[in-house]
Amino acid sequence: DNPILTPRRQADDADAALRPKSLAEFVGQEAARENLHVFIESAKQRGEAMDHVLFYGPPGLGKTTLAAIIAREMGVNFRATSGPVIAKAGDLAALLTNLESGDVLFIDEIHRLNPVVEEVLYPAMEDRALDLIIGEGPSARSVRIDLPAFTLIGATTRAGLLATPLRDRFGIPVRLQFYTVAELERVVSRGSNLLGIGIDPGGAGEIARRSRGTPRVAGRLLRRVRDFAQVAGAEVITREVADSALTRLEVDSLGLDLQDRRYLSMIADIYKGGPVGIETLAAGLSEPRDTIEDVIEPYLIQLGLVARTARGRCLNDRGWQHLGLTPPTQGLP
Ligand code: ADP
Repeated sequence: DNPILTPRRQADDADAALRPKSLAEFVGQEAARENLHVFIESAKQRGEAMDHVLFYGPPGLGKTTLAAIIAREMGVNFRATSGPVIAKAGDLAALLTNLESGDVLFIDEIHRLNPVVEEVLYPAMEDRALDLIIGEGPSARSVRIDLPAFTLIGATTRAGLLATPLRDRFGIPVRLQFYTVAELERVVSRGSNLLGIGIDPGGAGEIARRSRGTPRVAGRLLRRVRDFAQVAGAEVITREVADSALTRLEVDSLGLDLQDRRYLSMIADIYKGGPVGIETLAAGLSEPRDTIEDVIEPYLIQLGLVARTARGRCLNDRGWQHLGLTPPTQGLP
């Protein structure tokens, strides 16, 4: 709804400028970073390609960034594509046969691969081979072509979206988590250094708190706050500068936008706090179910405003509070 808050990639995101280039520069995701460091070092010591990696978690948390870092630390080429772009089996075959030994092939949105293309990926991942059918009818025969040792890195918003045979072929599944406010403060401070703007701890904290646990959003808010600061003639981004800019951009104190508030209000006003089913909410909000599950809900659940139960979505006390409402009294008088 409010494009400034969407964790999804936007055309004008200057992501590259703020993108960490090494594991050491990468903020947060402690467990994932330590494990990846071990897998990178051990593969390097053995002189082998690293095992296939699957990154999963909400958009904007650093899946693409980590994939590029792995290639860089392994000292190999990074080839990036995405599930919906690979239309035919032949497109994937062309990508695979052009890889050099050890290369990283990154497939974003891997859950959106065409099933026919996915079939080609199985032997490629497992045996590093390509099975091609040559000819037609009774004279058709299958030819196996060996591929260079390569590392496939897949990214998806939810591991559950992947077919089991595909998921099982990733030796290293890595789940990315929302960032803490302290981690996002570091992302914001690092970003302001790179952009050459002054910021004090209050300013960094204010932007961090309103960034939905997501570095991509933090980077975007930082750039917009800088615009306001510059025009106002402020040399340093303070809490006041950040707050007034973010308020004008309709980013609320928790980083929620109109779409989040519509979602919360619908559960509160129409369903008395729930439980209400996801399909009902999707119809009421005129949003695809995927958008609700991948973009809106994860952060609201993380904040404890909403709970996902077997019977549907329920508003928690914190959710009522954030809307400035009192939960309906229930049970005993
Ligand atoms: P995803 O692939 O998960 O959607 P990206 O890897 O494209 O997310 O990350 C979005 C942007 O957020 C990056 O370009 C980078 O600027 C920033 N970013 C992501 N993770 C970090 C991090 N750990 N530290 C600093 N910046 C980060």
